[in-house]
Amino acid sequence: MSGSGADRRIPHKDTQTRFRMSIEEKTSQTLKDLGAGTAEAIGELFAEVSAALEKEREEFVARGAGDERERSQSAKDLRDRWLARKSGLVSLIDENWLKKAPKELKPAVGRAFNQFRQRAKSVDTESLLCDVGQPEAGAKQGNLQFASASTESDRVEVSARGGLDLTLPGHRRSLGSIHPVTQVMREIEEIFLGLGFSIESGPEIESVYYSFDALNIPESHPARDEWDTIYVNSETVLRPHTSPVQIRAMEKHGAPLYILCPGKAYRHDNPDSTHATMFHQVEGLAVDTDISFADLKGTLDYFAKKFFGDKIKTNFSPSFFPFTEPSGELAISCVFCGGAGCRVCKESGWVEVMGCGKVHPEVLRHGGIDPERYSGWAFGLGVERFAMMKYDINDIQLFHQGDVRFLEQF
Ligand SMILES: [Zn+2]
Repeated sequence: MSGSGADRRIPHKDTQTRFRMSIEEKTSQTLKDLGAGTAEAIGELFAEVSAALEKEREEFVARGAGDERERSQSAKDLRDRWLARKSGLVSLIDENWLKKAPKELKPAVGRAFNQFRQRAKSVDTESLLCDVGQPEAGAKQGNLQFASASTESDRVEVSARGGLDLTLPGHRRSLGSIHPVTQVMREIEEIFLGLGFSIESGPEIESVYYSFDALNIPESHPARDEWDTIYVNSETVLRPHTSPVQIRAMEKHGAPLYILCPGKAYRHDNPDSTHATMFHQVEGLAVDTDISFADLKGTLDYFAKKFFGDKIKTNFSPSFFPFTEPSGELAISCVFCGGAGCRVCKESGWVEVMGCGKVHPEVLRHGGIDPERYSGWAFGLGVERFAMMKYDINDIQLFHQGDVRFLEQF
């Protein structure tokens, strides 16, 4: 109903009208009410509130010495006016300008708001008292000297030259954070490094031989179809799993061998909330004499408890993979409901988290290891899936979109 909106709209506000309004009036209205529909108009508004903030701060500092109690009180008043959680002007700007901004203007408003919020820190009580030179706020001695050295006339002079105030805190360049997938991968690596495993890596553009044949998946084998592989040409693929690294490591190092292979894998999947064309895996391989399925179970149980917490229970059930015999699936008691049953575990109380098994003798042979003398076990897991469970994230796509609002939460 576009007509009814027009009736309620405040009469057209040109820049002139907007200019005559007080800061309180402006911050109690939305950008639309204020007629600020362009990035330029938004920039002007934020410049205006920044200037008002700075003016009030300067007036406070210029009033300078006086009764100590009175000074503390007026510092607190100024701080509350701008920074009070509920009704402070910064909160009002957040509520009325940022949150109610139309979608297409949100990024611009968000950027301007963040800059402004940084500046507004200069009116917190401690900074104010420090700027006015109160000894009690002596934590910032250096600052204090600087502030007392810059007299009011200095300030006026600098601001006349274009608003540069050297006593304001500098702009801090924010550092990025480590991507949640990398964090989880490192956490998994740490656990296995502690068990004596070493890290191996291999090419992401891989031969069909290492991706399938050497892993006991010959061309005729129907299992090859289960990997929706991206072919570069008839002999080269983007590796559909990190398993080729296991063969390469066996060839390179021989037995005994305890390795972890973290890295990217590629599948020809349609992207949805649980599938992506590129994802991360961690595979592990242990080859030694006298190695049994019990070692595998013990190791993975230890790993699951280290990663998800001591309360986690593990459960192994039979499965099939061409490169392991026997093969199994490891399930853990649901991290969300503790085993009682919920949406995530489909009411079963268990969530399958990885495949595992004793290494097929053919695979050992392809790696140049004598299966009569050595045996081994291996496992493989999806890192994004682990990160989704750990942080309760329901869409794998979020990891790969590079949205700072998502990433800065980690
Ligand atoms: Zn559950």
